[in-house]
Amino acid sequence: MSKVAKVEAPYKVLVRDIPLQRTFEVPATDVDAWLRGLPMRDALGRPEGDPEAGHGKAVLELYADGEHVFAVGPFQGHLHVACSRCVEPVKLVIDEQLRVTYMPKHEMPADEDEEDAADGESDGAEVGAGDLDVFPYDGEVVDLEPLFREQFVLAVPYAPLCREDCKGLCPQCGVDRNSTTCECKPPIDPRLAALKGLKLPP
Ligand SMILES: [Zn+2]
Ligand SMILES: [Zn+2]
Repeated sequence: MSKVAKVEAPYKVLVRDIPLQRTFEVPATDVDAWLRGLPMRDALGRPEGDPEAGHGKAVLELYADGEHVFAVGPFQGHLHVACSRCVEPVKLVIDEQLRVTYMPKHEMPADEDEEDAADGESDGAEVGAGDLDVFPYDGEVVDLEPLFREQFVLAVPYAPLCREDCKGLCPQCGVDRNSTTCECKPPIDPRLAALKGLKLPP
């Protein structure tokens, strides 16, 4: 895959331009790139470049108080992931009220910096929605990308479902049991088989 150099930095704001209000659009290509690394997506082998990856839009007010920068406003979007049982697409809707603080890096607690490296599988875990979040910035440029990426990553549940009672795929023949019935019989649990053996003396 060729890497196209970014002409602009659509999620970056110069601190000297603050206060301001701005609308930030997150295109599907970015959503796709952010989600591609998620364990769920990899496990299910979703096709790359999913054109329906999602979309997001934030209308943020940014203002500063001393060295702290605040970003407040609604974030709306949606994304598509695969159902954890039948692999059909599931649309997840995001509708959050963002309220985050940007602090100069040197004021941040040490381990909060390494977000990129550390965010592994615990990502769908609870992070109190609407709570005050804190992100680092370098003192001159506020980069909103990690904030937007987090909205999409947190929106993906540990095991997404197309519907509550999705029947999933048949583990033997692979048909989608929501739409097709097959004749497969569930495999016999070896422990049960052993019990049967005991109960049936020759
Ligand atoms: Zn499903
Ligand atoms: Zn089957």
